[in-house]
Amino acid sequence: MPYAEVAVNAPGAGRRTFSYSIPTHLSSLLPGHAVWVPFGRRTYQGVVVSLEEQPGVERTRPVQDLIEPDPLISPVLIDLARWIADRYLSTLYEALQLMLPPAFGRRQRTTYRVVDGHDAGEGLPPLQAQALAHLRDQGPSSPEALREALGPNTGRALTALERTGLVERETVWERPRVAPRYETLVELAMPSEGAVVEALRLRGAGAFRQADALELLAGLPASPVPLAEARQLSGADTPSWEGLSRQGLVRMSEREVRRDPLAAWERGAAITGPHLTPHQRAAVNEVNQALEGGQGGVFTLHGVTGSGKTEVYLSALERTVALGKRGIVLVPEIALTPQTVQRFWERFPGRVAVLHSGLSLREQYDEWRSIRDGNFDVVIGARRAAMAPQPDVGLIVVDEEQEWTYKQEEKAPRYHARDVVIELARRTKAVVILGSATPDVGTMYRTLRGDYRLLELPGRITASDRTGDDSDRGLGYTPRPLASVEVVDLRDELREGNRSIFSRALQSALRDTLDAREQAILFVNRRGAGQAVQCRACGHTMRCRRCSVAMTFHEGGSLVCHHCGQRRRAPERCPSCGRRTIRAIGIGTERVVEEVQRAFPDARVIRWDRDAVRAAGGHEEILGTFLRHEADIMVGTQMLAKGLDLPLVTLVGVVNADIGLHIPDVRAGERSFQLLCQVAGRAGRGFAPVRVIFQTYEPEHYAVQAAAAQDYQQFYLQEIGFRRSLGYPPFARMARLLCIHASQREARQAAESVAGLLQAEIR
Ligand code: ADP
Ligand code: ZN
Repeated sequence: MPYAEVAVNAPGAGRRTFSYSIPTHLSSLLPGHAVWVPFGRRTYQGVVVSLEEQPGVERTRPVQDLIEPDPLISPVLIDLARWIADRYLSTLYEALQLMLPPAFGRRQRTTYRVVDGHDAGEGLPPLQAQALAHLRDQGPSSPEALREALGPNTGRALTALERTGLVERETVWERPRVAPRYETLVELAMPSEGAVVEALRLRGAGAFRQADALELLAGLPASPVPLAEARQLSGADTPSWEGLSRQGLVRMSEREVRRDPLAAWERGAAITGPHLTPHQRAAVNEVNQALEGGQGGVFTLHGVTGSGKTEVYLSALERTVALGKRGIVLVPEIALTPQTVQRFWERFPGRVAVLHSGLSLREQYDEWRSIRDGNFDVVIGARRAAMAPQPDVGLIVVDEEQEWTYKQEEKAPRYHARDVVIELARRTKAVVILGSATPDVGTMYRTLRGDYRLLELPGRITASDRTGDDSDRGLGYTPRPLASVEVVDLRDELREGNRSIFSRALQSALRDTLDAREQAILFVNRRGAGQAVQCRACGHTMRCRRCSVAMTFHEGGSLVCHHCGQRRRAPERCPSCGRRTIRAIGIGTERVVEEVQRAFPDARVIRWDRDAVRAAGGHEEILGTFLRHEADIMVGTQMLAKGLDLPLVTLVGVVNADIGLHIPDVRAGERSFQLLCQVAGRAGRGFAPVRVIFQTYEPEHYAVQAAAAQDYQQFYLQEIGFRRSLGYPPFARMARLLCIHASQREARQAAESVAGLLQAEIR
């Protein structure tokens, strides 16, 4: 087929593809090949998405060249990219870019240089003359360098010089930021006895170095050796080795070398998993049936932290591999710790790849290529691993599927990794497991409607599950229950004259914990801090009358509903209780640390938030300090909610349990519930009894109540009722239109005119 449809990475290419003819030297071109194509007056990178008999336009230009010899994207991923581009309104290239190796895109560099044979330059305006002189002296230069040397108006001078033909502009592509790396190998081209004879002959002829080199190889076990090593061992330099190769005495070959981020990990035998509990067994059986049936299917695995979900994933992965397929496991970036990877590695030693942004570009690139070559049973990664080039995927696990970091917010395509893998699995008949302690409301809705199948793990793994022995049941020790949660009403504290950020209950619990030489964590919710407006006396929050979404505080004292745009003045007095106690809410971790230190001078306190992590040089440092009990109290943000077992922690305090409730977002209640459940779930994993205290101005809020009871069902039923009555997702789909412009006025005008059009359309 003589035409290629190409998604071109050029500004202005938009959402369509372009037809190119295929020159004879590229007759083996395939979909998925990355290519150089002419576009406008320049050359750009593109990806071939299909081959066609007929071009989309009358006149086509030929594809220039391949960027890499093999196709980089499989047909099924090309198809998925089309879906992503359609669904999230990105360009096809933006979607395909997710599937290309890391750092694939190259930057263009422009340089100016003097056109040969032109000595003219008299009578030019001063700046043009200066620019010309500069280029003559310094040789070809970038526009940035020229502007640096000659001032900000240089751009215009260069354009003029270009127009008169005195200088020309050239655009070149920078070298790729990473590319495959190769090493040279050498081996004997004959049996070693023959080589020894040849070495003698060479020595006789005075070629001592070559003789040494050949003798060395003859003495080594017969297999290719890296040239660098052979050079060092023999003392013979590269030209000597090349001489041997020219005489046909040794053979040289190239091998790609890759950096393996897990190279230092042990590759012992796989350990066997524990004996599954009856609930785990039942879940695994259902998944296995789907795997064996080969028709795919989506499962929602619902179980609290510690209920044994990960064991279910591992068991299902083992079945997947036994069936000759492979797996992808998505975890939230923050949970992608060595501990997590370790658990998978133990079951699949040497067969696990990690993909995440903490790796160097070189490591990411090499890992990507190694995955594509089929070297791994399991790929673990954050959201982008959804598009990993893993061949023959039979099972995809999305752990903590409710996590909002699975949605890419900052740039196009604004995809949701969970929805992408479900789509991928639909096309490849892979099985999907969505695991969560608090499934996304939309996920649970689809599950109950019958789109997905529900698997439940009703409780935590207990001590007797661990020993597989029933004799300790009823002995009164350690079936580790969920901690019970105490809800403290901060309005009462204020009424009783306690103006501290800690309630009396939390203060006394902290005292007890310190006296017992145990540890406490204090959780400070930062989501939406400083935005929502609340009465400190009665807990009333200002909501939009139309959408019942919390309004946010803006400079100048106005309140805005980010949902419908409704605005009003912030009241002086609380509309509910009449007091002058309306405030923007929110406190930071630093403030909490200060207050702890003031109240408990003997306590050793550390902070765990983004700033502290940056200062300490990593999560591991901070966690290590706490795990070694070099601190008594850890004050942290969202990060605290995930991650490791903290066995010495016997008190969990949530300083401001209600704050996230008031983010102007339909999912505010859901997010708060999830977060509070996770924080409460941090406790109760060791062996000592644990207390959890939620401080709140709104103890009656359904999300706080349900989280305190750790009752997902209670929460779900309330929330889905609200969503239904207000027409929110999953009963409707929502889109956000952002107008971005350097001028605020232009952006506003565009936004208003789009809003006007939509309103007219609705009418
Ligand atoms: P989750 O992924 O739901 O948080 P895990 O799979 O991590 O739960 O299980 C919690 C703990 O219980 C882990 O330490 C795990 O090794 C252990 N565990 C899980 N299943 C079993 C089992 N069937 N027998 C013994 N221990 C188990
Ligand atoms: Zn009030």
